[in-house]
Amino acid sequence: MIDGWEIIDFHGHVGRWDIFEMSDDADEILHAMDAVGIDRCCMFNIFHPDGATGNDQTAAFVSRYSERFIGFAYVSPLMSEFMVPELERAIDELGFLAIKIYPPYSRWRLNDPVWNSVYQFADDRGLALISHTGAEETCWPVYVEDIAGCYPNANFVIAHAGNSEPYRSQAIRAAQRFSNVYVETCSTFREPGVIERLVAEAGADRVVFGSDVPLMDPRTQLGKIITAKISDCEKRLVLGENAKRLLKL
Ligand SMILES: [Zn+2]
Repeated sequence: MIDGWEIIDFHGHVGRWDIFEMSDDADEILHAMDAVGIDRCCMFNIFHPDGATGNDQTAAFVSRYSERFIGFAYVSPLMSEFMVPELERAIDELGFLAIKIYPPYSRWRLNDPVWNSVYQFADDRGLALISHTGAEETCWPVYVEDIAGCYPNANFVIAHAGNSEPYRSQAIRAAQRFSNVYVETCSTFREPGVIERLVAEAGADRVVFGSDVPLMDPRTQLGKIITAKISDCEKRLVLGENAKRLLKL
């Protein structure tokens, strides 16, 4: 909580990612969240193509501190027969509130029809879907322009806001063209001024704070928003109000 505002982190990982020395110690994560006033963090596990293995790990992680963590469902077209049943289980039985996809762990671009059943599910349920985006050929933000208009009841969150150029500009353009497209802020590619540009060009109502915890430290990821040259009203939207609207909290 910062000055009466609820702060929500839209991007957090469950599981181990050894090449990045990442591990999901809930108490360490909570310590960092508490140090800077982050109330809740959205968590997902991208390491198991069946979906269920990782989603069960996410459910176990979230249940330890259910008032602080929110689960997101993960599915993969590598095991496409499980996608819709697993989404139903994760949303209806595990109580997850949104969907995460990670195209670099597949061979299909974001706009490939192989993802359509996931997008349709999000559209049917009015869910938010966050995808990794960046320089990887499977997940350029420009592809979001091919899907956002086809699923108007879903909301598409462009993780990392494309990371570096030209993908950052693609992310902004997608948000400008489609009212159900959002850009999310976590990144290792962030020179000063990027948050200000995202707010000015995509709109403060379309920028969502995320940290990538525990891959990145939420204290530093939050700092660039808190200290950005944007208004308090804009910070309030970015830090929590937009996420609350997306998650129907
Ligand atoms: Zn991430």
